[in-house]
Amino acid sequence: MRYLRVTDAHPLVQSHPSPSTASEPRIQGWCPGALRPMPSGDGLVVRVRPTLGRLTPLQAQGLAGLAQQYASPMLELTSRANLQLRGVCPDSYPALINGLRTLGLLDERADIEGRRNLLLSPFWTDSDGTPAICEALTLALAAPDAPTLPGKFGFALDLGAPPVLRAGSADIRLERYGGQVLVFADGAPTGACVPLEQAAQTAMELARWFVASGGVVNGRGRMARLLQRQALPTRFTATPVPPAPAAVQPVGDSATGMVVGLEFGQLPADTLYQLASLAPLRLTPWRGLVMEGLHTAPALPELITNPHDARLRVMACTGAPGCTQALGPTRALARFLAPLLPAGRTAHVSGCSKGCAHHGNTLTVVAADAGYHLIDHGTAQSAPDATGLDAQGIAAYLEQQRLHAPYV
Ligand code: SF4
Repeated sequence: MRYLRVTDAHPLVQSHPSPSTASEPRIQGWCPGALRPMPSGDGLVVRVRPTLGRLTPLQAQGLAGLAQQYASPMLELTSRANLQLRGVCPDSYPALINGLRTLGLLDERADIEGRRNLLLSPFWTDSDGTPAICEALTLALAAPDAPTLPGKFGFALDLGAPPVLRAGSADIRLERYGGQVLVFADGAPTGACVPLEQAAQTAMELARWFVASGGVVNGRGRMARLLQRQALPTRFTATPVPPAPAAVQPVGDSATGMVVGLEFGQLPADTLYQLASLAPLRLTPWRGLVMEGLHTAPALPELITNPHDARLRVMACTGAPGCTQALGPTRALARFLAPLLPAGRTAHVSGCSKGCAHHGNTLTVVAADAGYHLIDHGTAQSAPDATGLDAQGIAAYLEQQRLHAPYV
């Protein structure tokens, strides 16, 4: 592999003084919540986890108002289909929390909020079992005897046909299997097939096994990692997990409603307010929204409705200066790279090797102490194929390599 080093600074990628001095990021074993906000370079990050991944018009308009009053007016949609407010100053935080409580967007306690890590297919229906399983899991995770799960441990409720969440982060997956539900551990080839009424309890059984089998180390742990050293209980080896279906189109019309994308999941409060006046909104793990029951989207430039839009090909975290751990800016570089990527290929620009915005293998660019590392096909933690690049260097690399393999 030939390494490129380009030293001329590109106007899009000026070096940025970062409070972080080490290349190694601080890996936090938890995600921010509303009751457990995370400090960042631009204030507190307050993450809201709406029930069923759905905002009523009243909730969405209320959230837009809270963002305008107490936070940055640019909200963010996350890859776990949550919505977060940034830039909250500690003095405003109590008023913001009161507002979220009034809107019915708060859990009772921070530990319950932390465990209620449920990723739902945005195409769920009243009849596919999702609301019932979601409610049962929510109750089980809030019960006094609930297992103490790591902060990033989550459940994917993916009961449509075909499933759409295989690429999403989850430790226990629930999918439709004929008239039943297949409950399986992330990364496992087999699972347990049970009637819908037993699905939540079976998922909790698997979660308890995870804890009892030593899946949690220093408060952290993921199912796929545990499976590398532990065999599953016999019950979860009976039914083969079907192969993953083709990746879902992240924007376009659907039976549930119009799915729209937003660049980097950034959602202006004004836009949220306008959309809320048209329909209830569901959050997607593709950092977009489903406008329930609508089959066209309003003509707003920030809404992405064309699946070939270059903005859908790039992912980028907050980067500098918003994140204290960032070693460089991200989004301007991602915008620059988007049109240079051939159709069907994606890129992830990360402010540090933590790689918050995307955990899968793809063309990855990571800010480093000097310039950017480039990883041909991997994650932000993979060994770099090129180092010390700036924007022009990365563009030259793309041209030189003429990457042909499709990226996931
Ligand atoms: S990946 Fe991005 S958002 Fe996450 S810690 Fe690093 S710089 Fe911050």
